[in-house]
Amino acid sequence: MPSFYFITVVRKPAFCGHLGIESRLISLTIEFNAMTSSVVLHPQREKSLLRHHPWVFASAIDKQKGKLRAGDTVDVYASDNTWLGRGAWSPHSQIQIRIWTFERDEVIDNGFFLRRIEAALEGRQALIARNGLTGFRVVAAESDRLPGVTIDKYDNLLVCQLLSAGADKHRAKIVWALQKCFPDCAILERSDVAVRKKEGLEPLVQVLHGEVADEVCIEENGIKVLLDPRRGHKTGFYLDQRDNRAIAASYALDKTVLNCFSYTGTFASYALANGAKKVINMDVSQEALSMARRNLEINQLDVNRADFIQADVFQALRDYSSEGRKFDQIILDPPKFVDSKAGLNRACRGYKDINMYAMQLLEAGGILCTFSCSGLMPTDLFHKVVADAALDAGRQVQFLERLSQAADHPVASSYPEGYYLKGLVCRVL
Ligand code: SAH
Repeated sequence: MPSFYFITVVRKPAFCGHLGIESRLISLTIEFNAMTSSVVLHPQREKSLLRHHPWVFASAIDKQKGKLRAGDTVDVYASDNTWLGRGAWSPHSQIQIRIWTFERDEVIDNGFFLRRIEAALEGRQALIARNGLTGFRVVAAESDRLPGVTIDKYDNLLVCQLLSAGADKHRAKIVWALQKCFPDCAILERSDVAVRKKEGLEPLVQVLHGEVADEVCIEENGIKVLLDPRRGHKTGFYLDQRDNRAIAASYALDKTVLNCFSYTGTFASYALANGAKKVINMDVSQEALSMARRNLEINQLDVNRADFIQADVFQALRDYSSEGRKFDQIILDPPKFVDSKAGLNRACRGYKDINMYAMQLLEAGGILCTFSCSGLMPTDLFHKVVADAALDAGRQVQFLERLSQAADHPVASSYPEGYYLKGLVCRVL
């Protein structure tokens, strides 16, 4: 590990044009490496970083040099003193360092965040045009090389979640970069997420810039969606299901659709716009159901072709089954069932339960669109659970389509954990 002072000349790339500065401006960065905090890993524990996986677990760290506070930038070295990456220190988390950069010359300054956000935005341009989006995920955390940073854009509002100590520490830089990229947007922080506790951070909701409306309307695939950015789930809406709503709706023509875990009813808006005979929205939240009704209205869809039922899906599916109710199509889009590996078996039982009852409730030839948004639920296991549910339901089932999260929720090839949403379109015979 170097213990000397050295000077690096960093050639700033074209992003400087944004700053109104000469685009090839060369700036001088003086790094006092002797003062930079660093850690050295145990032998053999560098492998994941060499593959550009962005996490360093506490158990991998052998030595720590320099004083480190939560969120501080730290250089990571292999046991043979090879420089591996530069990340943010999270003393309270099992994931003790999240890597910002694998490039030795890259400094974690305003320009770093601007470059990352610009690159993320550029990667989404084709999708935005293809699906006519006014709402999309701008930054998907680790998969966009900004660990702990999620940014969604809803029309002229940016909603961010800063979930790691590093993200929290660099809030001002992130806001600066967002204002450069989106000068017309207000910025709301929705860091009211329990995982912040693991990083030693309190949940937080605050306006970071401009005026934040109580309600925002976005459009995807020609469907309007109203959302409440302050109180809606996650950052206000489930953008990740966009493609799957369109796919589910393609089966809905003239069908009676049971939309379980409907939230604000976007699967229903798509289905009715695609000619569904009837859609029954079911959710425990009356507030979500009221918004679902308004979402049909703003899309000028026939509210008389929709029901809004406040119920526990687990219980309601059982009741419908004993009543002998039948549907042509059922959508199961439950919340995350798994928070830890220890909870996986229980989650499997939950998935199997709802899928089995749903299959029993389908007419012959009926379509089940079933999802798991639990990152800890492996895809193969989810498919097996659905297959087991078919056996228990006494139905023969074909998997027609395998579904995933939308392209504004990409998965970095070095970070398979980024793949969390999986779904199946099943035909129940
Ligand atoms: N399908 C929605 C997203 C669903 S989010 C969309 O396309 O936007 C999960 C929803 O499940 C939430 O609205 C939550 O209120 C609801 N929910 C959670 N547990 C439930 C239960 N046991 N019964 C019914 N709804 C439930």
